[in-house]
Amino acid sequence: MCGIVGYVGNKSAAGILLDALEKLEYRGYDSAGIALTDKDGISVYKTRGRIKKLREIMENRDQSKIDGFTVGIGHTRWATHGEPSDSNSHPHLSKSGKVAVVHNGIIENYLELRAFLIDHGHTFCTETDSEVVSELIDYYYNGDPVSAVRRAEVQLKGSYAIGILFSDYPWQIMALRKDGPLIVGIGDGENFIASDIPAILKHTRDIFRLGERELAILTKEGVTVMDKYGERIEHEVEHIQWDVDAAEKGGYPHFMIKEIMEQPDVITKTITPRVEDGRIMLGLRHITDQDLSMIENIKIVACGSAYHVGVVAKYFMKKTLRIPIEAELASEFRYDDPIIDEHTLVIIISQSGETLDTLYGLREARIRGARTISIVNVVASSIANESEDVLYTWAGPEIAVATTKAYSTQLILMHMLNWHIAGVKGLMSQEEIAAAINELERIPEQLRGILESVENVQYLSSLYFNSQSVFFIGRNIDYALSLEASLKLKEISYIHSEAYAAGELKHGSISLVEDGTLVIAICTYRPLLDKMISNIKEVKARGAKVIAVINHDDSETERVADHVIRIPECGVNAVPSLTIVPLQLLAYYMASHKGCDIDKPRNLAKSVTVE
Ligand code: GLU
Repeated sequence: MCGIVGYVGNKSAAGILLDALEKLEYRGYDSAGIALTDKDGISVYKTRGRIKKLREIMENRDQSKIDGFTVGIGHTRWATHGEPSDSNSHPHLSKSGKVAVVHNGIIENYLELRAFLIDHGHTFCTETDSEVVSELIDYYYNGDPVSAVRRAEVQLKGSYAIGILFSDYPWQIMALRKDGPLIVGIGDGENFIASDIPAILKHTRDIFRLGERELAILTKEGVTVMDKYGERIEHEVEHIQWDVDAAEKGGYPHFMIKEIMEQPDVITKTITPRVEDGRIMLGLRHITDQDLSMIENIKIVACGSAYHVGVVAKYFMKKTLRIPIEAELASEFRYDDPIIDEHTLVIIISQSGETLDTLYGLREARIRGARTISIVNVVASSIANESEDVLYTWAGPEIAVATTKAYSTQLILMHMLNWHIAGVKGLMSQEEIAAAINELERIPEQLRGILESVENVQYLSSLYFNSQSVFFIGRNIDYALSLEASLKLKEISYIHSEAYAAGELKHGSISLVEDGTLVIAICTYRPLLDKMISNIKEVKARGAKVIAVINHDDSETERVADHVIRIPECGVNAVPSLTIVPLQLLAYYMASHKGCDIDKPRNLAKSVTVE
């Protein structure tokens, strides 16, 4: 994954690149670096650690020299090959000093290319896959940068978004991409590349996305783009309307809590444009109602929290549609010879729309002839572009690595898609759909109630933030919710936690429950409440402390649990959306008590663009 940026213009490049990299730190932050060029060659500054450290290092170097550069590229890394270290940080400068490269992605055949280059006299000083890119381009370079990049590209296998400098061409930067995001920003006498829009929004709102295997050459005067056949192409420039403020913290201590608080608004934004007089208008452009009525089975393909949305949806869709429905981990789906055909609907879920495992799952589904609808948050991202139809979650930019508002809006769209399919299959009447939609429309108000009274959750987090290990249990849809609640806690607080189907705990893992172990029991699914109460008693008998998440009118569970978190009165379809939010808050406050780096948890990155 990682973030890359590039600048060419009249201004001092270093400051612009450092600021831009800070906006991309959510993509990776174990090391950072910048390469700057002028007529005297390429200078590289890089270090293990955050952008802040790189900034300090650069401030202690020859400032007037650094300030004089007006062309450069930068990188913030999320290591895949080779530990985070100064030397493994990008940019990589070829040993001749002629080519510098920043790379996002993985070069899968790097060992083979490394051997080939060593045979031809090249040497390597890092453990990364990316170093072969600078050396390979250097190997093919004979004065013509375009031909060198194209000849090298033919040999690259894997995924890449690349920024390139040539010391012989200090007035330009080049960019190339395949399976990794890269945008071009058009300024006045200056031009930019970046992995994501917020990085350059301060300087320009006019952008376009580089297409698959397109090569861009940027000078301060303009941008030339060539397709994979070397033909010149023009891109329509998109004018970004949203403000960079939307990507700032807005007074909250962390992006995560700001994004939790935004959930009522973004849920409304996601529902409203798709409902007219109680009817669902999804605006699908390629998959018709007729196509949907013929669907015989559904696969929901995603990773991480988006996969957990899929597991929740599997429960409610199965109940409504009565056809086989599976939630599949994208990284497994693609390699498991999936049984799908034109009667299968594959629903792909990804916040960024660039999650590589998920993108490859989508491609596998398309090759096998399945119908594909994606649910993504980033307009015109790779998954949005490559699926037959796309439903956008209108969550706005999500910066905290641990997702909250994207999860919630994805869940909303899964409900709407479910009812839309039920409608075209004749399984739900128009009145039933209108009533169900009404339950969703009331969620934002009910959520505001939860978000305005967080004291109970804050108190519970103060009691238990020192826990070594936490178990989340639930049955049916509550089990699906416990998967996400557990992931949220472990990713930001580093407390070991596991989610179990409540009936399963006794088949092994209950041996880990001892005096004081925290068990969080999600108990909203009414048909199995008695069973849940028995499961709570089982863990309490072994010394566990139990926080139960319960319906507004449930006094029975309250009697057996140590503490409760109550969900407000709501329709049954709204329960999952309301249950997850106090658990997001619990994770947030526990991590906050522990003093964790909540928005950028260790070892994680936001947009996972490697396999
Ligand atoms: N594979 C490259 C590395 O480990 C790039 C990873 C990234 O995208 O940050 O250095």
